[in-house]
Amino acid sequence: KLKMAARKLEKDDEDTRTAPRKSLKHVKMSESDCKVSVVFDMQFSDLMTERDLGKCLKQVIRCYSYNRRIPQPVQVHMTSHGGRVEAEMLKHDGYRNWDFHFKQESYDKLFPLDKIIYLSAESETALETLEQDKAYIIGGLVDHNHHKGLCHARAQEIGVKTARLPIDEFINMKTRKVLTVNHVYEILAEVCQGVSWKDAFMKVLPERKGALDKIDCDNGDSS
Ligand code: SAH
Repeated sequence: KLKMAARKLEKDDEDTRTAPRKSLKHVKMSESDCKVSVVFDMQFSDLMTERDLGKCLKQVIRCYSYNRRIPQPVQVHMTSHGGRVEAEMLKHDGYRNWDFHFKQESYDKLFPLDKIIYLSAESETALETLEQDKAYIIGGLVDHNHHKGLCHARAQEIGVKTARLPIDEFINMKTRKVLTVNHVYEILAEVCQGVSWKDAFMKVLPERKGALDKIDCDNGDSS
């Protein structure tokens, strides 16, 4: 009897946990009030091992599912989508129908150069607000820091603006400030929902909560 009661409790718990998700209406990007574009730049795919490319795409796919759950989805794009990236994505049934823009072109061919902001931990400029007509580029790279500063250098070559997340301004993070692709996206997505930078960092980087100064964020290994 006790066992049955326990099982019922467990079941109730399961129901309440899954219910809101089930009934949540997915808002399409086209219906979203948020016009901020976030772009996953896959131009570095050949620098990654099979395993790291898989990890990287898994992170992007997590961003996609996050985007489907928020009230005001961000405009999400994947650029330089082709070759190995496409081959890997084909493993996901019907991905072409996802509410996500897949483009073969590189980001600088899709957006006017003056609307592009390449996100990079090395930038001297800290992001302040996210602007509706801008495209914020995230380098699709899981490299365990082997290619330090690569995205930043490439963005400078093209001549687009760069910016870093305002981490230092809001939270105390003593060590690595290079975050994973999905953490960067999630922080931007939260800010687009009206959450403050500080709360967005606290929500997305929960390991920073209590232990604000003993952090080890090894890029690429945290998911
Ligand atoms: N070693 C790579 C880092 C890849 S991290 C490099 O130096 O380019 C994956 C991407 O996340 C980066 O290309 C960048 O776009 C984004 N990113 C990570 N940490 C960031 C930060 N603190 N501020 C802004 N963008 C960041």
